[in-house]
Amino acid sequence: MHDFFSDTKTKPTEAMRRAVLDCVVGDEQKDEDPTTSDLCARVAELLGKEAAVFLPSGTMCNEIAIRAHIRPGDAVICERRSHIVGFEGGGPAVFSGAMMYPIDGVRGMMTAEEVEAALSPGNRYTPRTGLVSVEQTANMAGGAVWPVEQLDAVAETAHAAGVPTHMDGARLMNAVVASGTPAARIAQGYDTVWIDFTKGLGAPVGAALAGSKDFIEHAWVLKQQFGGAMRQPGVIAAMCLHALDHHVDRLAEDHVLAQWIVGEIGGLAKVVNLRPVDTNIIIFDLAEDAPDAPALKAACEAEGVVIGELAERRVRLVTHMDVNRNAAEALCALLRQHLG
Ligand SMILES: *Cc1c(COP(=O)(O)O)cnc(C)c1O
Repeated sequence: MHDFFSDTKTKPTEAMRRAVLDCVVGDEQKDEDPTTSDLCARVAELLGKEAAVFLPSGTMCNEIAIRAHIRPGDAVICERRSHIVGFEGGGPAVFSGAMMYPIDGVRGMMTAEEVEAALSPGNRYTPRTGLVSVEQTANMAGGAVWPVEQLDAVAETAHAAGVPTHMDGARLMNAVVASGTPAARIAQGYDTVWIDFTKGLGAPVGAALAGSKDFIEHAWVLKQQFGGAMRQPGVIAAMCLHALDHHVDRLAEDHVLAQWIVGEIGGLAKVVNLRPVDTNIIIFDLAEDAPDAPALKAACEAEGVVIGELAERRVRLVTHMDVNRNAAEALCALLRQHLG
């Protein structure tokens, strides 16, 4: 199967698996796992923060960050199609008592003016703003890359009101490779930021959340409470270190392949509203006279190609390490057949 459903479908390479054999491990909860400590130091430096904590998933990074930043009842300003709104099972409400305050942005991004208008110091009636959260890249907008100036302006607006800032950087390294801007610079205005090792970076487990030393100490308490504290996670941290060493620059290949696919399918009659593609995510809608997304998905799967179905007439395709040009040719041949 050629799987374009998501970059989460990547499987650890042989070299990544081998990296586990020699890693030194110990009890992470006692700071005795040198491989995990190395990874956290690498991530803190990469993201320009004082410290980082290794967590089982990106979702836990978001949930712990929100919990640490806000008080129950506080508003979290973010873009409407954010992962924290649509894909974490209501976690911010459950774990943090968050009042989500989604803004309808453009391509998953809101402006400083929109954030300014949404901010509130709180009163007897209106929730206090507890956090402003952004997503780089913006997944549901088609992997859109926020311009650094816009990120800075949003962060400055929040900070001017005394509100902390958080960046969901599940695919931050895609933004780094696409824009040529260092991760630490992109995340500069954000008090907390995390990267996922299980998206384009190709590791099987793990994400790391970075922030100030004090913040990460608080995050460690929450990691313990949420059951995210591990024992010898060096075996998975070793794979994440391998990903940082070997799988960052190659994200450019995923972006090139995504552009190639866009070139092949952009002109098809029944492909409509194709979003601009900045990185590795392609989203488009299906014309009225096209098969709907479930039917198209079934037809493609019968021919060995998996596509993502975001809605009745909306498709998402994601390029990653485990799909190559041959796979993309098979995909485009099927799309031509059904949507041409
Ligand atoms: C995948 C994803 C997450 C969650 O990460 P997991 O490691 O799958 O829990 C959060 N935010 C965005 C934008 C994502 O794409």
